[in-house]
Amino acid sequence: MTLDIPQTQPPVSASPPNLTGPNLIGMTREGLGDALRGIGIPDKQIRMRVSQLWHFLYSKGHSSFDEMTTLSRDLRATLARHFSIDRLEIVTEQKSSDGTRKWLIRLPSDRPGVPGPEVEAVYIPEENRGTLCVSSQVGCTLTCTFCHTGTQKLVRNLTPGEIIGQLLIARDALGEWPGSGRNNEDRLVTNIVFMGMGEPLYNFDNVRDAIEIISDGEGLSLSKRRITLSTSGVVPMIEKTGTDIGCMLAISLHGVTDEIRDRLVPLNKKYPLKELLDACRNFPGLSNARRITFEYVMLKGVNDSLADAKKLVQLLAGIPAKINLIPFNPWPGSPYECSDWAQIEKFADVVNRAGYASPVRTPRGRDIMAACGQLKSETIKKSAGELFRERKANAASNEDARGGVQL
Ligand code: SAH
Ligand code: SF4
Repeated sequence: MTLDIPQTQPPVSASPPNLTGPNLIGMTREGLGDALRGIGIPDKQIRMRVSQLWHFLYSKGHSSFDEMTTLSRDLRATLARHFSIDRLEIVTEQKSSDGTRKWLIRLPSDRPGVPGPEVEAVYIPEENRGTLCVSSQVGCTLTCTFCHTGTQKLVRNLTPGEIIGQLLIARDALGEWPGSGRNNEDRLVTNIVFMGMGEPLYNFDNVRDAIEIISDGEGLSLSKRRITLSTSGVVPMIEKTGTDIGCMLAISLHGVTDEIRDRLVPLNKKYPLKELLDACRNFPGLSNARRITFEYVMLKGVNDSLADAKKLVQLLAGIPAKINLIPFNPWPGSPYECSDWAQIEKFADVVNRAGYASPVRTPRGRDIMAACGQLKSETIKKSAGELFRERKANAASNEDARGGVQL
């Protein structure tokens, strides 16, 4: 594969997040109502104001109160005094030769003087759809041995607003808001997958609230059937994902025996294969029209034998399932190699013969390290002093190419 040199673009969002008031993005309708009541908006207006704001934020994509010109000037000023609706800060945007786009996003800092942590979101355009891969945590507490994010400590969970903020950034960059000449039928972001950084079921409430807002028919309006949550197998939360969220489910399976899966996905020691597959069989709403996707990363000599393929189809018998074979995406220092292409094809044949249309997921955006499992932010847990010294040294040697860092 020929790799082109990634072009780092200047930040797209001009203004840094306003830290003066709470950000309204990510609040539920009830939360918005409470926030408005809190600044003295009369009770009888609350419903109408919530609807208006919802429309401005999620249908129109406004990112400043000034754009809400159908509100009185006074009301706009009052809102701006108490709240913010700023976008997350884009540190860099990269475009792959295959059209994939990756944003490195800085979240608001919770420690004065220390830059906020970073996450990545990736947009993958395909012929009839466009998928946005979002992060749910900065880093991950789990340590899957083939995953780059797994080498990074958990810094923190993302808030609902920070999860939604990734979609807003993508829609801004793709020019997808009304007024851009695009109508709802030819949307660019048609699907969302929680396959970026982090384990979404360890940030359940925030992921649930974000999905509720993203799928709200009066706003971003992306159906829950087009939103897929991928989990490494947090068994106790799987049923709740079906009942309380109702989105599509993907399971990072990767191994067909406990022995192999223990090695690849150490969470398997806590929730072994049998428990995981039982939870899948009982997934609320499971049907042929609503299948579970099983992800299987192809690791040379580790899990890619034809015996593994046969075992895989046996294990999934009776579960309405799709199988995604993912060529392993290497990262610096990764202890595995991707299976040979011929082996992936033979493996896929076994799976296909068992009746699964198992697309081998073509790696996208490899040249900008945007493929599955390659995501890792530069932020690690460091003391304020360490960060300060590091930034200062960078600034002094003029190497801090990412911009936006204030000393
Ligand atoms: N934590 C969740 C979601 C994020 S990982 C989970 O584990 O499911 C998203 C997907 O990328 C998972 O299927 C994961 O197993 C896969 N993945 C991780 N590292 C990878 C790599 N280096 N190459 C290919 N796929 C990888
Ligand atoms: Fe975390 Fe998923 Fe990576 Fe495992 S594969 S370390 S659960 S992000």
